[in-house]
Amino acid sequence: MDTKAKQSHIFFFPYMAHGHMIPTIAMAKLFASRGIKTTIISTPQNVAFFSKTIERSKVSGFEIGVILLKFPSVEVGLPEGCESGHMVETLEELQKFLKATSLLDQQLEKLLEEHQPNCLVADNCFPWTTDLAAKFGIPRLVFHGINFISLCISQHLIKMDFSALLKSDSEPLAIPDLPDEIKLAGTQKPNFLKQKTELRKFLESTAETERRSYGVIVNSFYELEPAYADHYRKFLGIKAWHIGPTFLCNKDTYASLDEHECLKWLNSKTPNSVVYVSFGSVIKFDDAQLLEIALGLEASGQQFIWVVKKEKSDEENKEDWLPEAFQKRVEGRGLVIRGWAPQVPILEHQAVGGFVTHCGWNSVIEAVSAGVPMATWPAFSDQFYNEKLVTQILGIGIGVGVQKWERFGGEKVGKRNIEKVVTQIYGGGESKGNEKHSQEAWGNGKKECGGRWIILQGFECLDSRIGTPLHCS
Ligand code: UDP
Repeated sequence: MDTKAKQSHIFFFPYMAHGHMIPTIAMAKLFASRGIKTTIISTPQNVAFFSKTIERSKVSGFEIGVILLKFPSVEVGLPEGCESGHMVETLEELQKFLKATSLLDQQLEKLLEEHQPNCLVADNCFPWTTDLAAKFGIPRLVFHGINFISLCISQHLIKMDFSALLKSDSEPLAIPDLPDEIKLAGTQKPNFLKQKTELRKFLESTAETERRSYGVIVNSFYELEPAYADHYRKFLGIKAWHIGPTFLCNKDTYASLDEHECLKWLNSKTPNSVVYVSFGSVIKFDDAQLLEIALGLEASGQQFIWVVKKEKSDEENKEDWLPEAFQKRVEGRGLVIRGWAPQVPILEHQAVGGFVTHCGWNSVIEAVSAGVPMATWPAFSDQFYNEKLVTQILGIGIGVGVQKWERFGGEKVGKRNIEKVVTQIYGGGESKGNEKHSQEAWGNGKKECGGRWIILQGFECLDSRIGTPLHCS
C-alpha cells in the first residue's frame, strides 16, 4: 500500500514577526512529530531565523518543508528587505506592511493549487486566507499567538460601539460578559479602535474571519485560563484547540545553548537571586528610557540580566543611554546582553527569580512554565490583557503601572518605579533575604518547592506535557 498517498499535509503560514514565527514553527514541529507532512510558508529575509531548527528537526526524521514567497516591500513603499514586524517603526509603515502581506494572496493561491494541502494554518493577521482556503475546499485554522483571555477581550472589544469606547477615555471600561470583571483604562486601548480607521477595519476583518474559519489553535493550556477557554468556546461559539505551551518541544534547541556566556554566568549565582529584564523582539526603547532602566536596576541593588535591543555605539565606550561607569559599578552583579538572548534557558535557570516583561504572550507562557513571577510592563497589542491575567487573575505578577497603549515608543517608566518592582518581584534570593517581601506581594499564588518558586493552580500538568505536547482536547 502506498502510505505516502494517505499522508496528511498541512501548510503553516506565520505572520512575519518573531513572536508569531517562534510558536508557529514549534507547532509545525509538533504536527510533524505525529507523522504529518508540514510546510512552512515564509519569505527570504525571515527564513534564516528558523532554518537551523528546521534542519535539526529534519535530522530527527520530521517532514518539514519550507517554501518562500517574494515579499512585496518595495511595491508598497517600504525599503527593500523590510520583511519582519520588528523592522516596522511607525503606524504608517505598519499599514504598508499589512498591505504587503495581503498582496501575497496570488502567490499563496498558486501554492495551494500546486501542493493541495489538507489544511491551511494561517496567522490571524492574514484574514483573506479564510476565503482562499475555502476556494480550495480546505479548512483554514487561525493562529493568533495569543491566549484565550486575549481572544475573548478582542472579540468583545471589536463588537462594542464607538461611544462606549470613547466614553471610557475618561473612566475605566469594563469589558462586558467576561468571567471576571476586567477593566481597561481608556488609554490602555489603541486610538485607532475608537474610529473607523484602516487599522480598525483590518481588526474587524480578522475578528470576522476568525468566527468564520474552521477554528483557532491556541498556544495556551486549559489549566492556566479555564474560564476563558470555556467562554471562548461556549459563549463566543468558536472552535478552539489549546496545544501549548508549544515551546516545550524545543528542548533540543535549548540544550545546544548551554555554552552561552550568560548561562555560564547564571551557573555561578545562587537560586532565585537574579532578575531577568527583557521586552521581546519588537519594542525598542529610546535612550532616555534605557537610561531610567539602568538607573533603576543599579539602585535596586539586585543581580540582573538585561537584554537591550540596541546596536553597540560606533564610538568606542560611548553609550548615551548608560550612566557613566555603569558597567564597572555593576560588574559581577549585572549582565547586559545586546541583541538576541537565549530567553527560555535563562528563565528556566534556577538562579532566575523574577522577570520584568512587556507581557508578550510567548514571554508570559515561558515564565509561567518556568515558575518565574513577573513585573508587568505592557506597551501595546494583547500585552495589557496578558497583564490582567498575570496580575489580577493568576496573582503571579505585579504591574509597573503603565497606563497607555503606545505601539511605538511606549509610556515612560521612571527609575524609582523600576527600582521598586525589581525589588518586589525578586523571588526570595538568598543574597537579599527578600522571601517575606516577595510572599507579601504574591499572596498565595506560589509555593516554594526545592528552593524554587513554583506557581500553583495545577500547573504541575506541564511536566507531563514535555515529550507529549500535542493535546487537542
Ligand atoms: N526572545 C528570545 N530572545 C530575545 C528576545 C525574545 O528568545 O532576546 C523570544 C522569547 O523567548 C519569545 C519571543 O522571542 O519566545 C518573543 O515573543 P513575545 O510574544 O514574548 O513578544 P514579541 O516579541 O512578540 O513582542
